[in-house]
Amino acid sequence: TYQVHIIGGGMAGSEAAWQLAQAGVKVRLSEMRGGGDTTPAHQTDGLAELVCSNSFRSDDAAKNAVGLLHQEMRDLGSLLMAQAAIAKVPAGSALAVDRDLFSAGVTRAIAEHPNITLVRERIDTLPAEGMTIVATGPLTAGPLAESIGAATGMERLAFFDAIAPILYRDSIDMDICWMQSRWNKVGPEGDGKDYINCPMNREQYEAFVQGLLDGPKTEFKEWEKDTPYFEGCMPIEVMAARGRETLRHGPMKPMGLDDPRTGRWPYAVVQLRQDNALGTLWNMVGFQTKLRHAAQVELFRTIPGLEKAEFARLGGLHRNTFIQSPKLLDPTLRLQSAPHIRFAGQMTGCEGYVESGAIGLLAARFLLGDLSGRPLRPPPVTTALGALLSHVTGGADAESFQPMNVNFGLFPPPDERVKKKDRKEAYTARARADLTAWMREEGLAEQTALPA
Ligand code: FAD
Repeated sequence: TYQVHIIGGGMAGSEAAWQLAQAGVKVRLSEMRGGGDTTPAHQTDGLAELVCSNSFRSDDAAKNAVGLLHQEMRDLGSLLMAQAAIAKVPAGSALAVDRDLFSAGVTRAIAEHPNITLVRERIDTLPAEGMTIVATGPLTAGPLAESIGAATGMERLAFFDAIAPILYRDSIDMDICWMQSRWNKVGPEGDGKDYINCPMNREQYEAFVQGLLDGPKTEFKEWEKDTPYFEGCMPIEVMAARGRETLRHGPMKPMGLDDPRTGRWPYAVVQLRQDNALGTLWNMVGFQTKLRHAAQVELFRTIPGLEKAEFARLGGLHRNTFIQSPKLLDPTLRLQSAPHIRFAGQMTGCEGYVESGAIGLLAARFLLGDLSGRPLRPPPVTTALGALLSHVTGGADAESFQPMNVNFGLFPPPDERVKKKDRKEAYTARARADLTAWMREEGLAEQTALPA
């Protein structure tokens, strides 16, 4: 017998199971890998497998939002952070781990915990009753995704994340392209020249649209075929198929962009937006695509100014199952229509290993509050945990909701009088103080226990 059922033994589910078990709650953790199933990205049967990079990003708790989140998780007795410390590899100021050691450490801690029963099984429907945490991640198995869709409304469940191609700045021909924001609009830190623009005449545009329509595409897997696109993530070739003019009124619209060589708006424009702080990488705005990689290179090099473009990453659409949390969840991650169910991890619309673990930690802590009859107040929005939680449960606009890494943009800004160079420290100092006060007020300090 168990008190809580956790579905999914990834980053979020493992952390949640640990938090509950350490507080004395009996947990059943269902993980389909090792039971005859897998996902398109996982390679092993280990819990908390890192499917791609081995980095938890910056570990600087004074200047970086994810570093701050690391520290807050440590304060709350995080299993993932404790195991990351053991499996750490050199990576400058970042926290990176040996992925096998890390996953093995998490798996052992969970499997050996007297309060956790780890079952290698796939769950296909949302449990009708019993305290449940769903933490099945971006690659949630199909039947369960359908069951979730039925409970939330299919239109509230997203299946894809779109990636636009990214190219190297020094491979762009700036004799042809120019820098200008549409209508010379000046942003908070800009000068009206934030974008790189590649001009097209009518002939070039029409040939380009034809190329999009004719180019070979990668196919979706069988069950993915019927899933609808949502607008923010529409592949460029799907948009092109809607009509010859669609792109010229969408991502390729030329209005407000004056080609310095003619003084006029071109027929169509491809815009590039800065993608990294150094300014060495630029992404093609709105150009998420399922064209095959070779076809992308060939076609995108027909864009004036990009004849010699070198790509750091090509476009793609990848599966990312997540729910429209701001609409569906209450402030403690409960499904409003079925409050015995909580969601955690990337399914809730956070992004990243650390963030997924953090939301798993919070889901467990809220559940503990419910079980103990003393509901836990959400952490203040000035903390990394609180800022991330509020993005997921209410801060973001529900209709355009997209997964997000933790970042200072999710926090309320510090006092305007704080100088720009001191602002990061202002965010983190305030967060440290507010987390400490919250933990004290909620009686959390004594619950934390580092894994042996
Ligand atoms: P997961 O860690 O994926 O855990 C979910 C678990 O649920 C899995 O073990 C899965 O097997 C299991 N499961 C699924 N369905 C069922 C079911 N029906 N029954 C039982 N078990 C089930 N983030 C980064 O920070 N860095 C990266 O480099 C990075 N690369 C990524 C690459 C890819 C291809 C993808 C898809 C995502 C990547 N992410 C990355 C994003 C994300 O942070 C990670 O996927 C993260 O692991 C999400 O944590 P999670 O706990 O929500 O899901």
